Amino acid sequence: MKPIALEHAAIKAEGMVRAGDPGLLLQAVHFDTRQLIDGSLFVALTGGARDGHDFLLQAAEQGAVAAVISDESKVPQGLPQGFGLILVNDTLRAFQKLAAAYRKELTIPHIAVTGSIGKTTVKDIIAHVLGSHYSVYKTYKNLNNHLGVPYSLLQIEASHQAAVLELGMNHAGEIDLIASLTKPEISVITYIGDSHMEFFGTREKIALAKAELLPHTSPDGLVLLNGDSEYLRMIAHLYPGKIAYYSVEGPADIWAEDILSTDDGMQFTVCFPTGERFVAALPLYGTHSVLNALPAIAIAMRLGMSVEQITDALSTVKLSAMRFEQVTSAHGALYISDAYNASPASMEAAIGTFAELFPNRKKVLVLGDMYELGAESDAMHIQVGAYANALRDRFSLLVTVGEHSRHISETYEGQKLHFATKAEAVAALLSLRNEQHAFLLKASRGMELWTVISDLENLS
Ligand code: ATP
Ligand code: MG
Repeated sequence: MKPIALEHAAIKAEGMVRAGDPGLLLQAVHFDTRQLIDGSLFVALTGGARDGHDFLLQAAEQGAVAAVISDESKVPQGLPQGFGLILVNDTLRAFQKLAAAYRKELTIPHIAVTGSIGKTTVKDIIAHVLGSHYSVYKTYKNLNNHLGVPYSLLQIEASHQAAVLELGMNHAGEIDLIASLTKPEISVITYIGDSHMEFFGTREKIALAKAELLPHTSPDGLVLLNGDSEYLRMIAHLYPGKIAYYSVEGPADIWAEDILSTDDGMQFTVCFPTGERFVAALPLYGTHSVLNALPAIAIAMRLGMSVEQITDALSTVKLSAMRFEQVTSAHGALYISDAYNASPASMEAAIGTFAELFPNRKKVLVLGDMYELGAESDAMHIQVGAYANALRDRFSLLVTVGEHSRHISETYEGQKLHFATKAEAVAALLSLRNEQHAFLLKASRGMELWTVISDLENLS
């Protein structure tokens, strides 16, 4: 963060300085005492399980020189001499206002990524490609909500030349708020799918919720929409500026053709309506990975990178852990860990991709429950079962774990085993832990299916 004086922070947070030198320079803003650095402004959040006001002394010990508070009666005795206090009505809103005001003063392009699936992946690919040429700030891991987005904005340094931010949501109205803080020049909506159906009911409503990003995008900017996600075609009218569709299915504003899957990843030709084309390689698997790379290409071109710079950068993309991550093992088995999270679309993408790869190994699907699917949960597990079933000649075994995944198993007509617990599944998989086998592990995050790998490998 660029340093800011206490009195200016108070104005931005719409609060009043109640203690401390108005000129006191603040180096960072944090609500988590573990993140504090010397010279920080500590924000005492009150909405969660603990009241941030109870941590004021600890914050001061850990480097805070001032705090944003909403209740002066909770200020403890013993704060250091000169400790600054800004009084506001609502500390969360104050934190968000500080972030929004900070962002307003930054002149670098802000790129916002939202969607039901692929936000982190697309954010990481964009940041990687731009990062080969510019100094780029990107959302750390998955900090994409009403706290994570303002946190991220306040992390941007004067030296950064672009920022790529992930915007997530569970409920209508959330994107509206965090997009109003972010005010992007470029926005990407990756996909409208089934995640969070439990809260929204229909995909149309999910599409409209994601579309809350559009009015906050600069009208002189660019909105990139996945042209293969039908609900995204309905929301184009909500943005007055330039909309570009990207696709792996057919012509769009930027699209991929001649998509080939190789042992080292994907190869494809990037095409434009002007007739311009070039070949690119990506060390990730699956057609959906090609789709996820297209916004990065479009954005890099808009920001002035050459085709050669872009293709060079794409050839070295690496994703975060547990996203179709290949894990090799002491026992020779190959694990594809995609256990970070799951929805029907990402399950099918992972199963379909796995089916195409590793022709020399016997392939075992290890699938767990998908959560938060609401009333359609059973039907969606059956749909995934049917998808896997159509490819069953590629797999030697399906192992399902949990409760809802029973419906996947019941729909599958090949070799299969169902277990209520991971421990039972591990016991059954033990004899397959060798160089002849490859395992795909995928389930909702809550299942923590990744522990199957360490449990299997550590058994003697
Ligand atoms: P979250 O809401 O948890 O933040 P996210 O939107 O950031 O999720 P990612 O973490 O990028 O999504 O990806 C989630 C899963 O979806 C991963 O297993 C990934 O491989 C898969 N995936 C990514 N993009 C696509 C796509 N276009 N189609 C299908 N599956 C995809
Ligand atoms: Mg994410």
